Amino acid sequence: MNHNAKAHHQSCNTQVDTVQYSVLSETEKEQILTLQQAILELVAHGHDHKEIIDNLCRLEEQLLPNSVASVMLLDEKQHCLNVFAAPSIPEEGVRQLNGLRPGPGAGSCGNVIYHQEPVFVSDTLTDARWVDIRPLAVHFGLMACWSMPIYTEGRKIIGTFALSSFEHRAPSQFHRKLLEIGASIIGIVLERNKQAEYLRLSAKVFESSGECIVITDARQRILSVNSTFTKITGYSSEEVQGQQPGMLNSSLHDPEFFQNMSHTLQENGYWQGEIWDQRKNGNIYPLWLGLTAIKDNNNQISNYIGIFSDISERKEAEARIRYLAQHDVLTGLPNRTMFTGDLVSAIASAKKLQQHLALLFIDLDHFKNINDSLGHHYGDLLLKATAERLKSRLKASDSICRQGGDEFILILQDIITPDEVAHIAERLISVLSTPIQLNEHEVTVSASIGIALYPEDGDNEETLVKNADAAMYHAKQSGRDQYRFFVKSLNDSVHERLTIENGLRKALERNEFELYYQPQINLVSGKMTGVEALIRWHHPEFGMVPPSRFIPVAEDSGMIIPIGDWVLKEACRQAAAWHQNGLEEIMMAVNLSAVQFRRGDMVKSIYAALETSGLDPAYLELELTESILIQDTEKVLATVQQLKALGVKLAIDDFGTGYSSLSYLKRFNVDKLKIDQSFIRNMVNDPSDAAIVHAIIQMANSLKLKTIAEGVEDQSMLAPLRLHHCDEAQGYYFARPMPADELMRYATAKIGK
Ligand code: C2E
Ligand code: MG
Ligand code: MG
Repeated sequence: MNHNAKAHHQSCNTQVDTVQYSVLSETEKEQILTLQQAILELVAHGHDHKEIIDNLCRLEEQLLPNSVASVMLLDEKQHCLNVFAAPSIPEEGVRQLNGLRPGPGAGSCGNVIYHQEPVFVSDTLTDARWVDIRPLAVHFGLMACWSMPIYTEGRKIIGTFALSSFEHRAPSQFHRKLLEIGASIIGIVLERNKQAEYLRLSAKVFESSGECIVITDARQRILSVNSTFTKITGYSSEEVQGQQPGMLNSSLHDPEFFQNMSHTLQENGYWQGEIWDQRKNGNIYPLWLGLTAIKDNNNQISNYIGIFSDISERKEAEARIRYLAQHDVLTGLPNRTMFTGDLVSAIASAKKLQQHLALLFIDLDHFKNINDSLGHHYGDLLLKATAERLKSRLKASDSICRQGGDEFILILQDIITPDEVAHIAERLISVLSTPIQLNEHEVTVSASIGIALYPEDGDNEETLVKNADAAMYHAKQSGRDQYRFFVKSLNDSVHERLTIENGLRKALERNEFELYYQPQINLVSGKMTGVEALIRWHHPEFGMVPPSRFIPVAEDSGMIIPIGDWVLKEACRQAAAWHQNGLEEIMMAVNLSAVQFRRGDMVKSIYAALETSGLDPAYLELELTESILIQDTEKVLATVQQLKALGVKLAIDDFGTGYSSLSYLKRFNVDKLKIDQSFIRNMVNDPSDAAIVHAIIQMANSLKLKTIAEGVEDQSMLAPLRLHHCDEAQGYYFARPMPADELMRYATAKIGK
């Protein structure tokens, strides 16, 4: 029979063999009750387990005079028994008992372990079960020894409780009861102590853990938290008890995140990951969290344990390292590594959205001089200041990096035209060249900029960088303090356009505009009936600039509005002056741009021009192109109706090149058609052009509109025009556009003829 089977057998026996209270006398019952009460009191007062057991031994000794009580515990590893408590046995006895190996001759206690059952020996001097330790019995005068197993809760024998007598005797029922009760109490006290020890240990681990620990019940209400939790979250244990851990959440995660977490926890019993929570003071911080679901004996979740640590420092360190790897320490700008990534994604998005982007290489001119003359410290200050200046000029979508040395690179996204980039480059150059205060020194530098455009100058980051660099080199070679496109033709056209645009801004205040006037001749009478005002620009550098070169630029930049206002004022003033000087009945034709209709307040401008000049509105003729009349018709119609109400005349310029729709001629109450030069020029040689001119005149006549032929250069054109009853003509054959004083002389001479 092995030990376990025996233990089982024994446990059943002990149950059966247990001494019944009924067989005890009243006195014995009372004595046992008193013993139990005394022990209970000690337990209740929280006495140490050893102290309680010692007391128990003494109390039992009192109830069995002439005896000593002893408790031996089994050392399972060493397979021996050691004395745990024997308050009345002298030290020497204890020493000799210690290390007792269980066996058939190892005394009462050794036999208890060996046979897994109570052993009652009434004569230790003759009983075979004492054969191995008989000298001990002799030495200490132990004549009888009754020993009882001590069980754990799971009925495992862990030791023995013995009463040894200095006389030969067999146990009565009362004695057996004493032994049973003693062993049972000792078992409970030892077990309790083990649990308490375990709990003390757990509590120690819980409290001293460097990690935050939260324990909740099955419904996720917080039961307890440790002190680290309070330290990290700011919440005391009382504040969180009974609350849901959700109170710690930040709003950084969406509900889906928590759903996944909860799902994994239910499925696997475990979840771990990074999460952002909020401290009591509102700070949001990252933590590494492990959640475990604890199940009870019925496999139902009874608790959750959350263990987490604050990882904000680690995160910050990581972020700092990432930052350092991607930024230039001096200026704080992204470095080349990060920039290349930006550029690659900028190209990808430009490709997808079919947009353009520009890469600008910016290099300070003669930066080395600053370093050499003022020292590197000032060089650094200048670079920092330059970075700030560049940053302040950027849109949110633009990126900038310091490429090293005094070189910076910009990515401009979502640009529309090269002009736009040129404007930005020009502004950057002007910002960078304003004097800058570096401590006590005022320093002036300039910069050269090279521009490469996507997709024109390359469709990948390597080519774009290379070409922007090449363009920058070009800018340096061309004398620095300027920008250069990678493609040369762009440089020229953009340059001219920008020079014109910049010049236009100053032209009005510098009085560089002049109106020329070209006579309009009545084909029947041969008299001059009117003039067309044509603007001229005396450019300080380029000389006379024709309108075809600057009107489109003025339209794009919006400058056409103030310029157009000036033309109207000047033309009306001149017409009024001529009327006073004898050129009565002269019509003044003025060209209007579509942009003036769209962006300006046409009615107000014209009213003002008429008002200040005193010109009779009937002598002002506005030349509109067909394109004006078909844009945003209702608005234009309203404007035109207001103008007509003022009494001014309306002519359609370059008629025949556009839409030539009859309906709008009627709707807009047009007065005159100006047949485009291209038809007039070819009329003599090309029958189809002649047919068009004929048709236009016929149509105009039927609508009661006047007609004028533009671009009449020689006499051969006159006969067919007269034949078809064209009313008027204008062109080099009669006169070129001329300044006002010349026109006065021309008119006087004509009248004189
Ligand atoms: P447009 O209104 O059709 O003006 C007639 C153009 O033809 C003028 O050119 C005039 O000089 C030119 N021309 C006149 N007779 C002849 C000829 O016999 N042969 C040839 N080859 N050309 C002739 P210009 O002055 O260079 O003006 C060009 C255009 O610029 C004008 O065309 C008009 O659209 C615009 N423009 C001129 N002045 C103004 C202005 O004050 N405001 C606006 N918005 N546009 C203007
Ligand atoms: Mg015109
Ligand atoms: Mg024209």
